[in-house]
Formats: sequence, structure tokens, C-alpha cells
Amino acid sequence: MTQTPIKTSTGKTFTHLVSKEGGVKYPLKALNVCEETFSPLEVAYDYDEIRRQVSRESIEAGPHSIWRYKAFLPVESENPIDVGTGMTPLVKSNRLARQLGLKNLYIKNDAVNMPTLSFKDRVVSVALTRARELGFSTVSCASTGNLANSTAAIAAHAGMDCCVFIPSDLEAGKVLGTLIYNPTLMAVKGNYDQVNRLCSEVGNSYGWGFVNINLRPYYSEGSKTLGYEVAEQLGWELPDHIVAPLASGSLFTKIYKGFNEFVKVGLVDEKAVRFSGAQAEGCSPIAQAFKEGRDFVTPVKPNTIAKSIAIGNPADGCYALEVARKTNGNIESVTDAEIVEGMKLLAETEGIFTETAGGTTIAVLKKLVEAGKINPDEKTVVYITGNGLKTQEAVQGYIGQPFIIEPKLESFERALERSRTLERLEWQQTNV
Ligand SMILES: *Cc1c(COP(=O)(O)O)cnc(C)c1O
Repeated sequence: MTQTPIKTSTGKTFTHLVSKEGGVKYPLKALNVCEETFSPLEVAYDYDEIRRQVSRESIEAGPHSIWRYKAFLPVESENPIDVGTGMTPLVKSNRLARQLGLKNLYIKNDAVNMPTLSFKDRVVSVALTRARELGFSTVSCASTGNLANSTAAIAAHAGMDCCVFIPSDLEAGKVLGTLIYNPTLMAVKGNYDQVNRLCSEVGNSYGWGFVNINLRPYYSEGSKTLGYEVAEQLGWELPDHIVAPLASGSLFTKIYKGFNEFVKVGLVDEKAVRFSGAQAEGCSPIAQAFKEGRDFVTPVKPNTIAKSIAIGNPADGCYALEVARKTNGNIESVTDAEIVEGMKLLAETEGIFTETAGGTTIAVLKKLVEAGKINPDEKTVVYITGNGLKTQEAVQGYIGQPFIIEPKLESFERALERSRTLERLEWQQTNV
């Protein structure tokens, strides 16, 4: 593979916004919908300019964050907001892989992303940098939980005013993990889709930068870094198969865009990567459309413990369907009980505590393997997008309890004996 020489220019690499249908061009402002086609707007790039600017070496010499891929992101600033987001571990799975019968499984662990322990820090770092460039002083979002955490934290770091909106029934960890940054927090009595509709109205009249509404074209580009990092961490190679969760469907489609861009500028060889998506059965409009062979998504009313991915009317649902179909992937859903099992399985086999979205993804991975839809030899990457400490309610009552003992050796020994008996009983139960 030929490599372009070291960086010779730092010209702007993104040129305009363009509608996903019809190719109508727009200026690089806070716009997200095409007035003619009503389709979403997307950032367009000058790939010749990117090819001139980047090489494997220049990226490797860049910052240890998403900003090593700055040429592929829609920001102009020399100093983007850098809170250490990105470059999370790509872990080669041993025990989970063996348990599932896979030979080549990797876990992309955004449960430890910075600063708020979910993949949303990627999209918000990009969105708030762009918001600052466009002159917004107040930023906002409609959130299923993690986005509120990220927006509040990164706005605090950047010294921007912040007002975020969440459904009022979120987990305590998600609410506390927002309030600690002292934004204005609106807990709306309604589901995410109702919160989102309210925010569209607020956005029109207050002139705020809503990261996932009027700034959505910039925000969503941040998810491409989940693709870039995996390619770089695999030694500048694409995987054979990826499994990722679907809420709006944005991150799924952007990993696809990211892989394709790396091929386009010559950083990796072309490969037919299969894309499989995961949803919770209690909110699975995209999985249902996939199963029924539809190319449109029918909205549903969410009812699942996987609140962070509970979007009943997914903005990028039809594009996610298209990606799964054209790459020969699948979209599956799992029950809340399977989600809890998925969380426990990942924790017990790999030492990674993920939230309900990650439990969904692991449970779908298992389901796809059992159905023969993932080949054991495929180099498969499963995306873990959030941290389990934020959704403790989900596993309460499904995990063990501590042995309460006196500060005495006999007390410890008695408890240890009891724990060994329990282990033997459990072993017998599962092996008869
Ligand atoms: C938001 C979120 C997702 C899905 O994001 P989309 O881009 O809307 O599909 C997945 N996992 C977690 C933990 C999230 O918070």
C-alpha cells in the first residue's frame, strides 16, 4: 500500500452540507434538514485534501484522542475541545470468545471513554467545538441519559452555558452524572421522542446549539472515530464483522462511513465488512423492519430497561437498515432478561462492567452466533458503548451478595465454607 508523504498542508477538509437524498448543497451552518427533500443533512469533505494531509504516520504521531483524526472531522479550530475523548481500549477477547465459540473476537471498550464513560463523549467533543466556532454560547440536547452527561461535562470544561433535556424516568446514575456539572436540567414527563419534539420547538425560538438537533450533522460525525480507532488498533486493517447497538441508528451508519473513508484515502485496504445491529425488544423498531423486510421504520412506544437506546422513532433508522442489508449483516433484538444476562456475561468473562446498552449488544452477539449468523473465524468487533455504574438498577437483585462477617478469623472461615458449599450446589445445578 502506498502512503502519502508527511503533511504538507493544513487546509480546511470539509466543504459544505449536503442532503442525504437529492444532493442539495447547504452552507456549513447550524442546519440539519433539507428544505426541499426533508432528508437529513450531512457534512461533505474534500477527500483529495484529506489524502494530502494524512498518512498512517501522521495520525500515529497525533494526540492520543479523537483529534488524531481531525482532518476527517468538521471542525476548523487549531485547538478543539480536548478532554481526552477517544482512543479507548480494543481488547482481544479470550474467555468470552471461548464461551461463545468465536476465534477472533475483539471488544471496543467505550465504557471507559472520557470524560463521562460513554461513546457520547465523541459526538459531543465534536459538536461543542463546532458550536463554539459557529458562535453559540448556550448548548443543549435531548438525551436518553448519556448525551446529557457528556454535554453537561464538556460544556463545563469549555465554559459554555448548558441546558439539557431528559425523560423524567431515567436511572439515578444518569441524573446525578448530569447534575454534578451544574447545568440547567429539564426532566420531561414523557419518553425520549416527546423530549426530542419539545427540543425542536425550543431550538427554533431560543437560538441555542442543540448537539443532536441543529448541530446534528457535525455531532454525528464524531461517531466515525469508533471506526477509525478500530481500524488503526487492528494494525491498519478493517474487521470482517461488527456488532453495535442502535438507538437513532446514527453511530452504526457512521462507523460504516468511517471505514469507507479510510479506504477512500488509502489508509486501509478495501474489505467487505458485515454490519450487525442490536436493539432491545421493548424498543426495536429497526429490528422489526429488518425482520419484515421493510425499508421504512414504524415508530414504537419504548418499554425496556435499555433506556439509553430507547428511541421509538429513530432518525437514521432507514439508513441503518440499508447498511445492515447491503453488508450482509443482521439486526436482532433481545429481551430485558437477556440484556441483564449479557451484562453479567461480559463482566464475568472479561471484567468489563457495561450498562444496559452493552448488555443488549452482548446478548445480540450471542444470539447471532447461536443462529450461525457470525462465522467463528470472522474477525468480529463488538462495540461496548456505555458504563454499568450508571445503570445499577438494572442488575439489582440479579447478582450475588456480600458475606457479612465479624472481624474474626473463625467468622471468615465459616463464611468461606458457606461460599464453597454454595459454589458446589450451583455447579451441581448447572451440570446435572
Ligand atoms: C446513544 C447511545 C447509543 C446509540 O446511539 P445512536 O447513535 O443514537 O444509535 C448506544 N449506546 C449508548 C450507551 C448510548 O448512550
